[in-house]
Amino acid sequence: MNWRQGRQEDVARGAMILLVSLGIAAVIIAVRLGSQQFAPPLPTATPVPTMTPSPPPSVTPIPLAPTPTPRPETPTPTPAPVAVAGVDELYAQDGRNIVCIDPGHGGEDLGNVRVENGRITLQEKDVVLEHSLMLAERLHKKGFEVVLTRETDTEVNPSNEDVNGDGTVAPEGGPARTEQIDDLQARVNICNLAAADLLVSVHYNGAENKFLSGFEVWFNDEREFSGRSEAFATFMHEALQQGFADAGYDAVDRGIGIEDHVVTGPERPGELVPSEMPGAVIEGLFLSNADDAAFIQSDIGDETLVGAYEAAITRYFSVYPG
Ligand SMILES: [Zn+2]
Repeated sequence: MNWRQGRQEDVARGAMILLVSLGIAAVIIAVRLGSQQFAPPLPTATPVPTMTPSPPPSVTPIPLAPTPTPRPETPTPTPAPVAVAGVDELYAQDGRNIVCIDPGHGGEDLGNVRVENGRITLQEKDVVLEHSLMLAERLHKKGFEVVLTRETDTEVNPSNEDVNGDGTVAPEGGPARTEQIDDLQARVNICNLAAADLLVSVHYNGAENKFLSGFEVWFNDEREFSGRSEAFATFMHEALQQGFADAGYDAVDRGIGIEDHVVTGPERPGELVPSEMPGAVIEGLFLSNADDAAFIQSDIGDETLVGAYEAAITRYFSVYPG
């Protein structure tokens, strides 16, 4: 093709491109105008009513994962129970609930006495024996095995043996037929030989001061089984409180005491081989007080005191079976 022919074609092509471009532009404009014209009117915005903002819904907080307690660098080990020689065997349950009842004093040892118009009208050794025998019968009927350190009005070491092996006995012609520590060791030996589970030493108090009155229970806190002794003393104290209240007798509550009595206390080297079971010493009431003495000598007094001893012992074995 020549240059003229080419020139004409160039012009025609340019016109064509121009026309097409104009057409496209017109279509775009028409669409734009049309879309504006036929678009539905925007809805008039409804005014949002003014209202108190509602609180955000309460959200149950998701518990955070517990913060781990930092472990101590050196963890404290839980102490392993320490076996105490003799105690585990003592506590071995053999189905036998054995009670060792110790009526204090006896024979030439009168214990506390009540004196009226220069005459002895009440002796501790008699009251504790009477009540201990009543108690033993009741416990026996309930299926307990009962051992008494004495069943008659006598010392427990009337032949004046050197029971504790300390090389001494009561002097001939002296005020007592037997040395007191030998007599007490003899009582402990009876309870130990019987393999008793509990030792109950029965006493009544006395004092120069006639106004002193009331009841108290003693245990020793230095024995390997002192926890049980304390439990029993607590049961006994509560049983006496209840008994006096039920009887309508306003006895003075002298509480629970800790003391080193020979029959319940720890070893005394060369002088005492100790009891091998929990126990307590009861001082029921004061023989030297008029009201206490009258109560002790009444039927309701017997029932109240012996009933309380029985209740405490029964409760003890329900907690600590023998
Ligand atoms: Zn006594």
